[in-house]
Amino acid sequence: MKPRKVPQRLCVGCMEMKPKKELIRIVRTPEGEVLLDSTGKKAGRGVYLCVNKECLTKALKGHKLEKGLQQPLSEEVLERLKVGLGYENS
Ligand SMILES: [Zn+2]
Repeated sequence: MKPRKVPQRLCVGCMEMKPKKELIRIVRTPEGEVLLDSTGKKAGRGVYLCVNKECLTKALKGHKLEKGLQQPLSEEVLERLKVGLGYENS
């Protein structure tokens, strides 16, 4: 008898399981584009991150995004992600 729980996903920054709602999804589309998936429903391979800059930084340092998405991320894509997340250089 398992209680029905909120779906949980692994944050690739802190490597903790968190409710999906608290995470943001980054997806690599079948076309090979890397996007922020605000709906959580885009087709493609996705990774999840907590909504904080620290987890993004950790994920980038450990190349977790590249590993999770199985694709190298260009500077341009990274910038776009940071801006999209509101973490542009400050
Ligand atoms: Zn995290």
